[in-house]
Amino acid sequence: MSKDNTPHDKGLFAIAFKAIGFAWRTDRKTFLLLILLNVFNGSIVYLQFTSFSAIVDDIIAIKQGTSTMNDLIRSAVILGLSFLVPTLLANLVGFLRTKFRMAQDLYLDMYRVDKQSALDIGTIESSSYQNLLRSAHEWGTNSILGLQDFVFTSASSFAGIFTSMIILWSLSPWLVLFAALAAAPIYFFYKKYSMEVFRIRWLSIEDYRVISNRLSHFEEMQKAVDLILLKLKDWFRGQIYDRLSNYNSKVIRAERKKSLSYGVLSLWYLLFLFAAIALMTKQSLTGSIAVGALLLAFNTYTRFYQTVNGYIESISITEESSRYAARWFDLFALEPKLTSSPNAMRVKFEQPPRVEFRNVSFRYPGEDAESPLVVKNISFTISPGEKIAIIGVNGSGKTTLIKLLCRTYDPTEGQILVNGVDLKDINLRDWQSAIGVLFQDFPLYHLTIRESIGLGNILTPVDESKMAEAARYSGADEFIETFPRKFDQLIWKEFREGTDLSKGQHQRLAVARMFYRNAAITILDEPTASIDAVTEEKIFSSLEENMEGKTVILITHRFSSVKNADKILMLEQGHIIEQGSHKELMALNKKYAALYTMQASRYLQEDES
Ligand code: ADP
Repeated sequence: MSKDNTPHDKGLFAIAFKAIGFAWRTDRKTFLLLILLNVFNGSIVYLQFTSFSAIVDDIIAIKQGTSTMNDLIRSAVILGLSFLVPTLLANLVGFLRTKFRMAQDLYLDMYRVDKQSALDIGTIESSSYQNLLRSAHEWGTNSILGLQDFVFTSASSFAGIFTSMIILWSLSPWLVLFAALAAAPIYFFYKKYSMEVFRIRWLSIEDYRVISNRLSHFEEMQKAVDLILLKLKDWFRGQIYDRLSNYNSKVIRAERKKSLSYGVLSLWYLLFLFAAIALMTKQSLTGSIAVGALLLAFNTYTRFYQTVNGYIESISITEESSRYAARWFDLFALEPKLTSSPNAMRVKFEQPPRVEFRNVSFRYPGEDAESPLVVKNISFTISPGEKIAIIGVNGSGKTTLIKLLCRTYDPTEGQILVNGVDLKDINLRDWQSAIGVLFQDFPLYHLTIRESIGLGNILTPVDESKMAEAARYSGADEFIETFPRKFDQLIWKEFREGTDLSKGQHQRLAVARMFYRNAAITILDEPTASIDAVTEEKIFSSLEENMEGKTVILITHRFSSVKNADKILMLEQGHIIEQGSHKELMALNKKYAALYTMQASRYLQEDES
């Protein structure tokens, strides 16, 4: 996987071949039919030229008395048909192309969703994956559709070039030579000058990301509010202006070179056009070819040049899209790094299991150099139904510990045992089904309240009474009650009847989702960070009262809420420095006791004042 943005040179045709694979799998009949129709369309134009030349010759012959009206009528009918058939077919091609594209779009979107959802969380979290995804997105899956269009363009261009070569050859082999010489430098000019413009665009991708990020500060609600309050407009505007004007001047320089070089190219083409006309006029005057043939030569010759020109231009555009398509194919080729082994144990955790961390150490899989250990030789146990609190300053490894427990990652060293079985030997899906985890950075769902809470247990039909209960336990019921549509209220302001929630309300809803999930092990990572003290108290007592028999793991900074936990783990720089109940840790009279006393005395002081 490449994480820089240097042009990918896998070869246009190799990538186009992969795109054809998708077309083949989706709708091969339409794909083949479109190729055939394009071949027809690419060559039929020459029948128009030929029949038109025949009409001219027929008119001359009739005037000279060497031909009859019948010949003229026949040529006119052929000319008429040569226009009528492609016109009718063009509509069919248009329809088939739309149908084909839509089927491709659907197939690609579904393929992408399936592929991405099969990845493991570790891969999704890696910066190389995020970077790859970002660059693939710059053109969307349109880049793959662009490559398929290129196949159709190739079909019609090759058919056109082939037919024109035959016609020119039949008129005079010299014409083929002139046409070939006129067209020869086109590819070189495109490659050099046209690609230069694309290259600048490609190398400016990073700038473009910065520009679109800076522009977002003028559009997204929270950013736009900050922009006004902190008077950030000029600062962001300057960044956009500098990057854009720098980009513009580079492109304009390249465009100038391109247009000058194309001027030279056009003169070169004209030179051979004049040579061809001179040759044909001479032959026409000497009577070795008819006037109609002169006309045919001229039309065929100019059309040939346009076709080659157009085709080569489409190659350079397709080369551009192939780079983005290559990203999609890289993405599709990714395989999850962390999977269930084929003989992993299938378990349905009706009751919370006993979990043991045994000498667990962990470092995040490094992108380049080896990263430091963030969890260091940790050992502890969680008995079924225990309420565990994890505390420690930011960056001490609390969330990482949770990720290891969820098997987002495997430990670098040591083992996690679930009812005595290594977690790696348990079916991953089964294990993750036993867990309900609410991370600090939880997603905000744009759904109705009912759907949003219901996501906690999506595989079973909605249980209204459990849902109401979950909302009550998390304190979400207070604001749900105020909505005229209650649980059917849509949380999405961009919709007409949607509304938005405060951060704390969103968090209450997320906590409700976890209550509704009612998993064997519920993990809440700072679940009350944005929640007021009264609701927080309510949530914690709900956890104690209503999660009886279930294991609950809570990460929090508030010592008042960990007091009732069965076990407290205190982390510092990846180590567990103290563990035990509140009572035990107070008796130990070390760091926990000191911090607890400090927080408690602050509350007391506040009370007194
Ligand atoms: P806490 O939850 O205690 O605030 P974390 O477990 O989130 O701490 O982080 C512990 C350490 O691991 C930090 O130094 C953090 O920078 C690092 N870290 C967290 N997530 C990643 C990641 N996805 N990749 C690399 N390092 C990470």
